[in-house]
Amino acid sequence: MQITKAEFKCSSERISQVPKDDLKDIAFIGRSNVGKSSLINMLTARTGLAKVSGTPGKTRLINHFRINDAWYLVDLPGYGYARVSKGERDRWGRLMEGYFADPELMTLGVMIVDARHKPTADDCTMAQWYRDAGCPFVVVANKLDKLKKSQVEPALQLVRETLELTEADILLPFSAEKGMGKEDLIRLLVQTCGG
Ligand code: GDP
Repeated sequence: MQITKAEFKCSSERISQVPKDDLKDIAFIGRSNVGKSSLINMLTARTGLAKVSGTPGKTRLINHFRINDAWYLVDLPGYGYARVSKGERDRWGRLMEGYFADPELMTLGVMIVDARHKPTADDCTMAQWYRDAGCPFVVVANKLDKLKKSQVEPALQLVRETLELTEADILLPFSAEKGMGKEDLIRLLVQTCGG
């Protein structure tokens, strides 16, 4: 199973601008600098598709990428970057609330956390948003390459406990840098959306 076609569809700064066609959304979200853009580029094998930003928190848009002409990979703006104004944060909140409130939009959420650290309060809030929206989500524990082998299991356990994941929830060990976990994630996405 592969992603054979990935093209940029549009950027939305308001919820009224997001595509409302038949294609399902798989929405990627994570704290700024967690490696979301790197992961999207790695998955789609397109280096420049999502911008790997030197300045975390800069992107405040919802980006839609059309995958295999079958579904949208949705790059939701990152959160948790300290150096943004209250106005920017409020705008982010309104945009996200609008997105999560529309049951037509999201089919699956992919939430990315940094495997090296205990998930933050913002990460926990995000997981709760998915639960409240009634939307299935998988958690990707990125940057696993930065851990020693002996640290991996305890780190994954900490993510599970902090985000209050159940046995049924999927937690994928991952490294966007090394390509680890790629096949598992693509299989999951393609199973969910076809194509
Ligand atoms: P975003 O803000 O979430 O889109 O994060 P970026 O994709 O811009 O990545 C932030 C930084 O983390 C960059 O310096 C990436 O090279 C680095 N990075 C991303 N994924 C990994 C990973 O799996 N392992 C390591 N070691 N570094 C990563």
